[in-house]
Amino acid sequence: MSDLLAGLSAALQEQGYRLTASRRAILQVLTSSGGHVTADDLAALVREKAPGVGRMTVYRTLDLLSGLGLIRPVYQGTGAAHYILMDAGHHHHLVCSVCHKVIEFDDCVLSEIEQMVCGRFQFQIESHLLEVYGRCPDCQ
Ligand SMILES: [Zn+2]
Ligand SMILES: [Zn+2]
Ligand SMILES: [Zn+2]
Repeated sequence: MSDLLAGLSAALQEQGYRLTASRRAILQVLTSSGGHVTADDLAALVREKAPGVGRMTVYRTLDLLSGLGLIRPVYQGTGAAHYILMDAGHHHHLVCSVCHKVIEFDDCVLSEIEQMVCGRFQFQIESHLLEVYGRCPDCQ
């Protein structure tokens, strides 16, 4: 079991949700896909691995995981939301506003800002998603 899958499974159970066979199959497919899938993409992938798991179950599980902050929907352009994995509590993108390419970067520079904002608003931060918009080298 990957760390990511183990982490998601544990987080669900900590929140009092049962790790049913369907949920387990959905989490498996979601983590092995690496995220950045739409609900329809994911439902199609799940159908290949676990034909017994219905589309509505996939949708409901995505809602549940989003509600718990374990994944987040992101909207790029006008299409359906992509679900991204919030591994380690954060996720960062550079998004090209011309070709809509998404570049992932792991370097986190937000901890100082988080501390400052937390203090000012007495806010307890759980995770963050950072998107920076601009032009990629090909589109400059
Ligand atoms: Zn571009
Ligand atoms: Zn991403
Ligand atoms: Zn970060």
